[in-house]
Amino acid sequence: VKAIGKAVFDDEGNALRLSGTLQDITEEHGLQQRKDEFISVASHELKTPITSLNASMQILQKLIKTEEVSDKIKLFVGKAGNNLSKLVHLLDDLLNVTKLQQGQLALNKTRFNLGDLITDSCEHLSQTDDHKINISGEQDVMVYADYRRIDQVLVNLVNNAIKYSPQANEVDVTFGRENGKAVVHIQDYGIGIHPEKLPHLFDRYYRVDGLGHQFSGLGLGLYISAEIIQRHDGEISVESERGSGSIFTFTLPLD
Ligand code: ADP
Repeated sequence: VKAIGKAVFDDEGNALRLSGTLQDITEEHGLQQRKDEFISVASHELKTPITSLNASMQILQKLIKTEEVSDKIKLFVGKAGNNLSKLVHLLDDLLNVTKLQQGQLALNKTRFNLGDLITDSCEHLSQTDDHKINISGEQDVMVYADYRRIDQVLVNLVNNAIKYSPQANEVDVTFGRENGKAVVHIQDYGIGIHPEKLPHLFDRYYRVDGLGHQFSGLGLGLYISAEIIQRHDGEISVESERGSGSIFTFTLPLD
């Protein structure tokens, strides 16, 4: 971010004050820092109870498969389990922001087939939503990357494509090689994004319609995804048209 400050001088040429954009940015920076600190403390406090809740839930889910329990109990355990995984996902985003801020997000790279990751990940996602996820791509696109982190990026982008296209019922995921790089496109036919909002999209806490959004979220998924891709020496970008949908693209170096 560029800070453009304007100094105001008196008649003798002494600087009286700085005004304009510089002040705004300083304020913005302080606010950002306070948000970061709050996120760090809150996520740390939430980690222990949520982890323990999650462990109990996993035991409960195993138990209802083997023990004799009523359909009602199965239904409510199922609902609680789904909501708990959403909570775990939210907490993960919060913890990741702190890790990224402190430069502690380590990458654990292995060699893998990008197509396999996409197929596995999307299969899992399509079980929890009505949107049909169409996958097409080239064979044996091999990359050397952190499987879990790239999966996280893909899940973020596909979940957004689903979330921000309530009127559509399909999402297209295509992958292959372009200009000597591995590339993945996630296309939706949803609400799209206004061109003037596009430059801010990957900023921390940024949401197009701020807090008054009709869709829930923290404004962290794209920031985290962009950081992960950049740490792999890849690129992430978006093309979008209001009312027609968006295409998010990310690249990774080929193995
Ligand atoms: P969240 O979805 O939690 O708000 P993200 O960082 O994933 O946070 O996205 C930031 C913002 O970008 C969203 O609030 C939304 O306004 C916009 N956005 C992201 N993906 C899409 C998409 N596929 N279509 C339209 N808008 C999107």
